Amino acid sequence: MLIVMKFGGTSVGSAERIQAAAQLAIEGADQGHRVVVITSAMSGVTNGLIEAAQGASRGHWDGSIRQDLFNRHAAVADAIAGGDRGRRAAIVEELERRLDRFEKLCFGLSMVHELTPRLLDAISATGEMLAAPLVAAAIQARGRASGFIDATDLIVTTDQFGGAEPLMDLTARKAKARLAPMLDQHAIPVVTGFIGATEDGVLTTLGRGGSDYSASIVGAAVDADEVWIWTDVDGVMTANPSEVPDARTLSDISYSEASELAYYGAKVLHYKTILPAFRKKIPLRILNSFNPTQPGTRVTVEGDVSTPGVKAVTSIRGVSLIAISGTGMQGIPGIVAKAFQVVAEQQANVLMISQASSENNICFVISAADAPRVVKALHAALDVELVRGHIDEISDQPVAVVAAIGDLMRGTPGIAATVFGALGAEGINVIAISQGSSERNISLVVAESDATSAVRALHHAFHLERVAEIAKADIA
Ligand code: ASP
Ligand code: MG
Repeated sequence: MLIVMKFGGTSVGSAERIQAAAQLAIEGADQGHRVVVITSAMSGVTNGLIEAAQGASRGHWDGSIRQDLFNRHAAVADAIAGGDRGRRAAIVEELERRLDRFEKLCFGLSMVHELTPRLLDAISATGEMLAAPLVAAAIQARGRASGFIDATDLIVTTDQFGGAEPLMDLTARKAKARLAPMLDQHAIPVVTGFIGATEDGVLTTLGRGGSDYSASIVGAAVDADEVWIWTDVDGVMTANPSEVPDARTLSDISYSEASELAYYGAKVLHYKTILPAFRKKIPLRILNSFNPTQPGTRVTVEGDVSTPGVKAVTSIRGVSLIAISGTGMQGIPGIVAKAFQVVAEQQANVLMISQASSENNICFVISAADAPRVVKALHAALDVELVRGHIDEISDQPVAVVAAIGDLMRGTPGIAATVFGALGAEGINVIAISQGSSERNISLVVAESDATSAVRALHHAFHLERVAEIAKADIA
């Protein structure tokens, strides 16, 4: 098999972790697989780089950040080289070259004081550019051929800096041409996650947490058999374990469930990761590099067809419910169009929408950070309707969204009854409800203070703490 293995920030967060990652890649190769590694920056590095860039843009640049980055990465070089001076010198030389580039960018920024998205990408990419040579060296030190590649040579993207999108045909051509010769030599290429470049070769990033997306893009580009995401949890769980102590790891989920879960706050996968793999039907696996004997979660077309109904319960915090209400709204066309036009103009993302057939109230959920801006703009845009009394009020309130998710909720009667029964029994008030006609997700708006009990109540009501077999028997 051809396997693309991505290691996240904590999985390459120290010398020890980088060596464990190298070992996992080699074990794959030893089993006869061809392996491509995608690496994140060491944990915390990207945040530090972004802070450094922001500081530099305000004129603060003192070189101590470079020294800190050097110290952290050189310590890994020391551990990898284990007394082999030549090896250490070669790694350190590469680190210095990359830190020189970083320092020049920050220094320039501290002079011009203008942090453009393009410059921020160039700077924030440094973390992956420092990690990849270390991971490749760790593989070499264990006796396997390896080499690092900057993804600027593989992934061709649009020029949306800070959230670039891959151009798949160009990427496939480049990635195959660059990776095939190394794979043919049984070498393990180590590619920087998170970054790409435009057709003109200008560095871009795929957005925060984007290394997962890189893995899926590269996997699709080279027609990999599987993409493995090595992270620091056992897989995708039935709920957030800090909220629901008896949450369980799901062994199999479908692409659509994975994307619902990625969207709804189960922050295991970057939400864009599913698409490139899904288009080529490449299975994804989410595995724990700290606990590699666990089977993890597999993401495929079918998922787990043996589990009916709800598979997982998630919650999103830090969101606001915006409600436009008034008895005079009935039968007046155009209010919804106007409202969502405003939301789009304010660049706010809508997480859920609900309107009952009485038409007296339209409500939707957006990030709490966007709420004040959106409410102000709605007042301006719906001024006439407010004056005429079609609309009485535009309100916003901090809330949480709790969602029950599962492919096989579709066509299974009684799920909504269980949802509302469970919340009613706990005395939890449901403020708004939404279920799309895909029937894969029932979303409920509740007060923030009720979110944890709501998630627990639903998790328990659908027996998600038990293994699939028992739940099945129970329902049958
Ligand atoms: N290093 C990048 C970030 O922290 C990308 C990633 O880790 O996936 O956002
Ligand atoms: Mg990450």
